[in-house]
Amino acid sequence: MPKMLATVVDNLVSRPATRPHPYQRREAFVRARGRIIFDISRCVFCGACALRCPAGAIRVNRAERELVFMPFQCIVCGACVEGCRRGCAQIIPQYHSPAYSKPEEYYRAPLPVREDDQL
Ligand code: SF4
Ligand code: SF4
Repeated sequence: MPKMLATVVDNLVSRPATRPHPYQRREAFVRARGRIIFDISRCVFCGACALRCPAGAIRVNRAERELVFMPFQCIVCGACVEGCRRGCAQIIPQYHSPAYSKPEEYYRAPLPVREDDQL
């Protein structure tokens, strides 16, 4: 009984062992694999990242100059980052926010202006 009482008192005066996520964020560890982002201004829509992705989390439409990323399908393996020679796929040490749905992220580059569009 005295031992249990000591445990109860200890638990009452000690700080909680967990954080109130997502209200209080923890600093990411060095080289943490948080999530993937794309710098679409450098993308040539070659599709190499989509071919390497084991989770099928990337779709590339070269004609429309569009890259679709499914963050909730991504396992943050980094294969797209290694496979992108343009350096547009990057891992950042920030975790994705919790969400009620699983939206896709659309990255679009402006279509090149054709000569007949300028007339
Ligand atoms: S992100 Fe990189 S690998 Fe993927 S389509 Fe763009 S240039 Fe190609
Ligand atoms: S990190 Fe891995 S799973 Fe995520 S998009 Fe890139 S290749 Fe696919």
